[in-house]
Amino acid sequence: MPYERVILGPRYALRLENLQATDAVEVECPACRRRALVAPHKLHDRFAPFERMTQICRRMRCRRCGNSGDMNWNIVRAAPQAPR
Ligand SMILES: [Zn+2]
Repeated sequence: MPYERVILGPRYALRLENLQATDAVEVECPACRRRALVAPHKLHDRFAPFERMTQICRRMRCRRCGNSGDMNWNIVRAAPQAPR
């Protein structure tokens, strides 16, 4: 499914509860360039709704190289498929 980047307001103010089911967090490790899409429901397993995305992403760890603390991240949203 195609995703497009969305801006949901100032990054520092964004909380987990602001993400919709059609959103995902696109995370990129600055050390090894591994990229991953994280679904909101996976974050709800580990974090409270009111927690800020800046804090959550700071606690993420790269599964390839173990880097943590400075992940690049953006919110992306599933784009509707063009009619065929
Ligand atoms: Zn990495």
